[in-house]
Amino acid sequence: MNSWLETKIEFLKGVGPQRAKLLHDELSIFTFHDLLLHFPFRYQDRSQFQFVKDIPFVDGFVQLKGIIRSVTETGIGRQKRLTAKFQDNTGTIDLIWFQGINFIKPTLKPNTEFIAFGKAKLYGNTWNIAHPELSILQPENSQLGWQPMYSSTEKLTSAGLHSKGIHRLVLTLLEQMKGIHFAENIPHFVVQKYKLFDFVSASFHVHAPTNFEQTTHARNRFKIEELLHLQIELLLRKAINTQKNKGIVIEKIGKLFNSFYEKNLPFPLTDAQKRVLREIFKDLKSGHQMNRLLQGDVGSGKTVVALLTMLMGIDSGLQSALMAPTEILASQHFKGIADLLMNTGINAALLTGSTKKSERKIIHEKLKSGEIQILIGTHALLEDVVEFQNLGIVVIDEQHRFGVEQRSKLWKKNTVNPHVLVMTATPIPRTLAMTFYGDLDVSVIDELPPGRKPITTKHYFEKDRLQVFEFIRKEIQKGRQVYIVYPLIEESETLDYQNLTAGFESISRSFPLPHYRVSIVHGKLKPDIKDYEMQQFVSGITQIMVATTVIEVGVNVPNASVMLIESAERFGLSQLHQLRGRVGRGAEQSFCLLMTGNKLSSDSKKRINTMVRTNDGFEISEVDLQLRGPGDIMGTQQSGTIDLKIADLAKDGPLVAIARELAREIINSDPRLEKPEHVFLRQEAIKRLKDKPNWAEIS
Ligand code: ADP
Ligand code: MG
Repeated sequence: MNSWLETKIEFLKGVGPQRAKLLHDELSIFTFHDLLLHFPFRYQDRSQFQFVKDIPFVDGFVQLKGIIRSVTETGIGRQKRLTAKFQDNTGTIDLIWFQGINFIKPTLKPNTEFIAFGKAKLYGNTWNIAHPELSILQPENSQLGWQPMYSSTEKLTSAGLHSKGIHRLVLTLLEQMKGIHFAENIPHFVVQKYKLFDFVSASFHVHAPTNFEQTTHARNRFKIEELLHLQIELLLRKAINTQKNKGIVIEKIGKLFNSFYEKNLPFPLTDAQKRVLREIFKDLKSGHQMNRLLQGDVGSGKTVVALLTMLMGIDSGLQSALMAPTEILASQHFKGIADLLMNTGINAALLTGSTKKSERKIIHEKLKSGEIQILIGTHALLEDVVEFQNLGIVVIDEQHRFGVEQRSKLWKKNTVNPHVLVMTATPIPRTLAMTFYGDLDVSVIDELPPGRKPITTKHYFEKDRLQVFEFIRKEIQKGRQVYIVYPLIEESETLDYQNLTAGFESISRSFPLPHYRVSIVHGKLKPDIKDYEMQQFVSGITQIMVATTVIEVGVNVPNASVMLIESAERFGLSQLHQLRGRVGRGAEQSFCLLMTGNKLSSDSKKRINTMVRTNDGFEISEVDLQLRGPGDIMGTQQSGTIDLKIADLAKDGPLVAIARELAREIINSDPRLEKPEHVFLRQEAIKRLKDKPNWAEIS
């Protein structure tokens, strides 16, 4: 960066040592540059004045011109308030102060024209503005235009650095920048391609806006700059890791794989599955450790891809581990995979928390001797006593439930890092995948196996219950099975449990023996009872499964064709989509019925409508991102690692994609950022990668 911008903030006129310390402590502003990058979080439109009569039709902030008619002080102590009747040609409203009354009161001069700005609220029958910005009307403040708003803190505010105070400092800085020449810190071709403002003009448009479109364009310049730095960082990190983490080389597809593919595979793979397998094989023979994220909607057939990957390893004498987040899932994977492996001579074992001690010991021994080739299980796999002879492939199902730490624990089970395939059925919006998994390679299965009928989703209110039950009876008569799911949210676990058991009883009454048999599964059941109930449903002995979200992930009963979700408004979008994915696994038409109360918040409505409208997990994830923001989707742990000053991952998806492409182009042409036009990118990269001192050594 230009060295002038690295000047300490205390040397800016109007700052000095005390304010400088506050700016460091409160906002991490150390230099001129940091202050420029303290972007306004919002702009106020002060270019227009409204009339009092129009207030009911204005949404939010209003700016009025008028005279103060009377001033009254009421209440005592904390109840004290100051009210001024403010009048323009069209009406009167109240301006109210609860604090600083003694300071404000003398400024409220009669017969003087004022400008009042603030958020108008209706209180009883009168509109008022609490703590308005009030100033005497003068030529220079009657045309304020767009006013930038800066975030500040209590301490800064009491030192005079509220939003306006900060703005004043920025304006001082901008004034000084006028005479200085700044070298462009974004590569020239990027500036040209997107016709970006240069650094100085962009700074002016952002901090001293005159025209909203130009400000938007200027903000985009800083967003691209910020995202470009981030994407370059991620690509470099990935390159460094690839370089550093040698991988066991799997040279060719072997006998086991081929004979399995020809004789045991019950169906032809989809094109998407084949493509992903090719991507995986490329990693396995590359000599570098594979770190691949496999995204695929529910039912897209990730399991068989995982199995085939493990077979590639076994052909080269490597063991594999598959880890799932729950016992139910792990044992279902085990059963499915054991079925497929019938007559292949390949040895698979299941290890979970409920594996008996004696059995466990045998498994441990057989792992060490290499006799077990595929180990499937839960967190139990991570325990130190679980040692492999030669672990080569690790598959993790439902990634977001495992932390990074747990991932790396599995790595350590071999002297050479095993290859890692992470599978997730919760599609992550592209923007987030590019950012949060920017250091992983991503494969996508974007095609469902043939013959699936899209699931029909419908929304019902409580009053439609009889109709819904009638529908369910008809489906059961056709020989189908039904899930009925109740929410289980930790804060109100007891209440949910009551709902669930009440629901179970009411379902049992509406669907009585001997015609109907009902299973129930929830988190409070002992594992063996849970297994028994599951098994009853899986084998078709019961037709209805009443459950909490424990069945959310992975469970596979192709004959189940109806998913009824109770209190659907209480579920998140990705959870609803996961639940819906439990049906539609057979050839029959399947249904997802969303039952809600009558009153829905606008967010709930949006979630329900999205579910009714589309089956596409990626589309759903985008809506989810808009509703919840990146932090909630990725979890604070992960999102906390990415600090963006101006770009917004929820809103700036297209810019993220642009930055990703640009970063790739730049790194491909200049992997060490040695070209003169990349000098600023290099400086920034060094700063960001200071935990990776050897980054420049990569080739
Ligand atoms: P998920 O990606 O949700 O884990 P699964 O791997 O459980 O999906 O696969 C869902 C179902 O689709 C399973 O019954 C599986 O056997 C079947 N399946 C997978 N791939 C194919 C395919 N290419 N053709 C037909 N059925 C397939
Ligand atoms: Mg699965």
